[in-house]
Amino acid sequence: MPINVEEVAGLEPALNEIRRRTAELVNEEILPVEDELGWMLRGYAADAAEKERHRRRAIALKEEIKAKVADAGLWAPHLPTEYGGMGLDFLSLAYMHEVLAYATGASELFGVAAPNAGNASVLAKYGTPEQKERFLIPLVEGEMESGFSMTEPETAGSDPRSLKAEALRQGDEWVINGHKWFTSNGIAADFFIVMCRGNDPSGELGPAGQMVQIIVPTATKGVKILRGVGIFGHEHSDHCEVLYENVRVPVENTLGLVGQGHQAAQDRLGAGRVYHCMNSVGQMWRAFDLMVERALTREVHGGLLKDKQFIQGFIADSYMDLQSARLMTVAAAEKVARGDPEARTAISAIKVFVPAAFARVVDRAIQVWGGAGVTNDLPLSRMFLTARVLRIADGPDEVHRILVAKNLIHRYESDRPLDFAS
Ligand SMILES: Cc1cc2nc3c(=O)[nH]c(=O)nc-3n(C[C@H](O)[C@H](O)[C@H](O)COP(=O)(O)OP(=O)(O)OC[C@H]3O[C@@H](n4cnc5c(N)ncnc54)[C@H](O)[C@@H]3O)c2cc1C
Repeated sequence: MPINVEEVAGLEPALNEIRRRTAELVNEEILPVEDELGWMLRGYAADAAEKERHRRRAIALKEEIKAKVADAGLWAPHLPTEYGGMGLDFLSLAYMHEVLAYATGASELFGVAAPNAGNASVLAKYGTPEQKERFLIPLVEGEMESGFSMTEPETAGSDPRSLKAEALRQGDEWVINGHKWFTSNGIAADFFIVMCRGNDPSGELGPAGQMVQIIVPTATKGVKILRGVGIFGHEHSDHCEVLYENVRVPVENTLGLVGQGHQAAQDRLGAGRVYHCMNSVGQMWRAFDLMVERALTREVHGGLLKDKQFIQGFIADSYMDLQSARLMTVAAAEKVARGDPEARTAISAIKVFVPAAFARVVDRAIQVWGGAGVTNDLPLSRMFLTARVLRIADGPDEVHRILVAKNLIHRYESDRPLDFAS
């Protein structure tokens, strides 16, 4: 079923037009070939030559669609126009994400897939002209791939102050030693942005122990990709375990200043969380449409599923989950867009609420589809895993709940009780 995008009352005409054009691409160019794009793992012929033929077809199709996205002026919407993007403002981007995410994996085709999109935004904000020339432009043009390497197996990712990887300055170079994992897109990446604890004995680049992000080309001696960590029963993934052993890169590869590492990570994750949530809304929308589509046509025990009250309950509850998740996310995006200091609370709240609502909706859609729901013939099983991961990645639920509670308690202690309408 295609996504039904109608004009949103109160939105600027230009933004309604972007949603309409995005939906047109999703409906006409992506959905009809979705199962040929390599995302659905349909288990085609076991024959190696046949598999290779499908792989090549998927690559060619992706390139064709990306060219159409670029022709429609919708490529890399998050980046300023000077770097080949659309230069969309925060809110417009959020509205676009919910539409493009209707097709699983479409963010790659619009040039906004993680981690490349976040890396590109950080490079655009903190990069030197040389870094932009060497890393940002090829990244936007699809000539390069990248990863973001922060999480470590030996330290708690939910407490980034515990991070151990060290960058020791020796002359004009950083010497990096560290052990990371869950560096997504690690197999394909040409460079990583690595979060380290800086140590410049000269003190010129700041006191020791402060966080710094450093650009490390993956071909640098000492960068060892140990494995693509298997997840959810799959043997491999592109979430890599990486060892950095005496990796030397020039000091010019410092991204921003020593001491700005956390801020740069926050810039990336704060905005990223809103986009992830709007993506989740787009996927919930698809799951909802699939659920209703099946309910309208599947005959069981002498009647259509749509006439069974259990199924009607699934539809009603999913509508409520979807509406509440979407409205909370739009409200959070509006707070970010107008620079409201309460935006942090709103972002943490959606980071907990939306993935949970997403999981509930997909779970019901799977149930309505029966056995077909868990197959790779439908995007539902993939969505189910995505929803589960989102409760951990970019900060686990507990950390965000604590932040929401702390901020709210602080308000009340400061005699500023909430006005829920603002
Ligand atoms: C599929 C996937 C892709 C990822 N991609 C990337 C990537 O590209 N780059 C990258 O750097 N990282 C990536 N990550 C890592 C992710 O950001 C971390 O897994 C996450 O931040 C949690 O860190 P941790 O795994 O070390 O868990 P820990 O910090 O060890 O936390 C474990 C659990 O402890 C609980 N907990 C934590 N703090 C508290 C508290 N204060 N009170 C109560 N309970 C608490 C939570 O339930 C939490 O889940 C990815 C993770 C996944 C699963």
